[in-house]
Amino acid sequence: MSLITNPTIQVEPTKNSRLSDVDFDNLKFGQIMSDHMLVATYENGDWQEVKIVPYGDLTISPSLSALHYGQSIFEGVKAYKFNDGTVSIFRPEKNWERFNKSASRLQMPEVPEEIFLGGLNKLLDLDKNWVPSKEGSSLYIRPFMFATEAALGVHPSISYKFIIITGPVGAYYSKPISLKVETKYTRAAEGGVGFSKNAGNYALSLYPTQLANDEGFDQLMWTDAKEHKYIEEAGTANLIFRIGDTIITPHGETILHGVTRRTIMELAEKWGFKAEQRRVSVQELIDGIKNGTVSEAFAAGTAATVTPISKIGYEGEIYELPPVEGREFSNKVLAYLNDLRYGKIADEFGWNFIV
Ligand code: PMP
Repeated sequence: MSLITNPTIQVEPTKNSRLSDVDFDNLKFGQIMSDHMLVATYENGDWQEVKIVPYGDLTISPSLSALHYGQSIFEGVKAYKFNDGTVSIFRPEKNWERFNKSASRLQMPEVPEEIFLGGLNKLLDLDKNWVPSKEGSSLYIRPFMFATEAALGVHPSISYKFIIITGPVGAYYSKPISLKVETKYTRAAEGGVGFSKNAGNYALSLYPTQLANDEGFDQLMWTDAKEHKYIEEAGTANLIFRIGDTIITPHGETILHGVTRRTIMELAEKWGFKAEQRRVSVQELIDGIKNGTVSEAFAAGTAATVTPISKIGYEGEIYELPPVEGREFSNKVLAYLNDLRYGKIADEFGWNFIV
């Protein structure tokens, strides 16, 4: 698939590329930013200027409303480089759709396709050389929007900035992870903002996650706000289980509907598995681990890709999952996604958007 183009975006190229300073063999997640960023300004009820400029600091007012009242949303997308040098972005139109859902829920303006996707196309075309080619690495793309009105008072801001920054990354998790089932703190309640990718959802996760880290777990498994009985998602990824021959993922408005999750559920169905999006209770999971019907569990996300879960902690007990080598579905899905994203197999679903 090809991405839409937007010839109207002005480009101010950098005079000092930082590309030659980058050690592409030792990429940490989120530490290095590419040469350019896209900046669009919303004022007077519409998107005004859209430009690509050298990556650099912003000047902000201390009364900037995003800092006080939290109108701030973002996305996470990845681009990959094929062996022949082609740069491809994985399903960015799904991120664009989700971004606008987040925007609506936070009373922020939607970003039109020609700015979000057209802008992405132009930005990546300019910073193509920043996309790493080594398998397992990629260019992480972070579109975000925040309120820029310089005034106090709780009301929707009258102005916003939409920005896209990018940077080369290696793997987010390099080994299987352990999760603690969270039974005290809550990420999202019905009627809230769990389905949106707003900054506050991450701020509230930090303290409970630290408590879990202190107990030796890598991440939390969030549960429902009312009873803490039903599984929702992990810190920055959705959860997928194989119970018997069914591939199951929790569903509902309190979770962020991941692009990776959707992709994997579509593949599961295509490959002849039963694929269900439904409530999954912690008890069902624990019973399934005990009696051997839960054979696979993994976190699925843009950053996490497919990260196997090795252990689950619940009410002081540790439940171990079967060894990763024997996990037929997770291993197949990971291999397939890698091959597809690096252009090694035909793109039968039209998920690769070529820059
Ligand atoms: N849940 C949360 C809370 C996340 O931050 C993410 C990462 N965006 C996901 C799920 C997975 O979503 P995706 O597959 O679109 O990256």
